[in-house]
Amino acid sequence: MDGAKKPGFPAAVQFRRAFLQRSTALAALGALGGMGVSRIAFADALTKEQRAAMSPDQIIAAMKEGNDHFRRGYTKARNYLNEAKASAAGQYPAAVVLSCIDSRAPAEVVLDLGIADIFSARVAGNIANDDILGSMEFACKLSGAKVVVVMGHTACGAIKGAIDNAELGNLTGLLAKIKPAVAATKYDGDRSATNYTFVDAVAKTNVEMTLAEIRARSSVLSGLEKAGTIKMVGAMYNLKTAVVQFYA
Ligand SMILES: [Zn+2]
Repeated sequence: MDGAKKPGFPAAVQFRRAFLQRSTALAALGALGGMGVSRIAFADALTKEQRAAMSPDQIIAAMKEGNDHFRRGYTKARNYLNEAKASAAGQYPAAVVLSCIDSRAPAEVVLDLGIADIFSARVAGNIANDDILGSMEFACKLSGAKVVVVMGHTACGAIKGAIDNAELGNLTGLLAKIKPAVAATKYDGDRSATNYTFVDAVAKTNVEMTLAEIRARSSVLSGLEKAGTIKMVGAMYNLKTAVVQFYA
């Protein structure tokens, strides 16, 4: 399509070549590489110019492609030290991802991204609160990230806790922020925390409601979205399949 052949993206072009040189098992992905999104996923560190050249849709496509690499076991060979050095003088992350603290759902890893590629906000149940909203406003309005992703995951313990009305210290208040998603989830059948189909349905509702809350409570972010400067999208990471499903 576009970018991969444009001048000014030498590292990205190199990556695309590396991508195209991968094993023939990936031949079926040739069409995807031809879409020109692989250039975004990513050099040692994103430059300001590289990020400026990307649209929100291209960034989302790059994250989808990164997860495709991850779930197939073909993640980028990256050097974290090089990424750290390349980004030490400044960061130009393309997106902010709000995800759960679950040890099995690290956003950068499952999207095959590296240091300085994304802002990563993590809290149990990937809920929004004042501090998360402030963090995302910083990421987008002040630092120039172009995509907001709210990424839930399957078999989420926080969702189960909200369904079970678990109570523990400060966790009680956190789970209270998820309970509206439990009530709002239409599901005929066993509405218990041992029914993973229901748990995952609530997790999806929770992602949608978190996005709605972000839009309602952050005029900064909703303004950027209305202007087309940023895109906001929900996603769900499946622990068993390693697939991140984007709701867009
Ligand atoms: Zn979780």
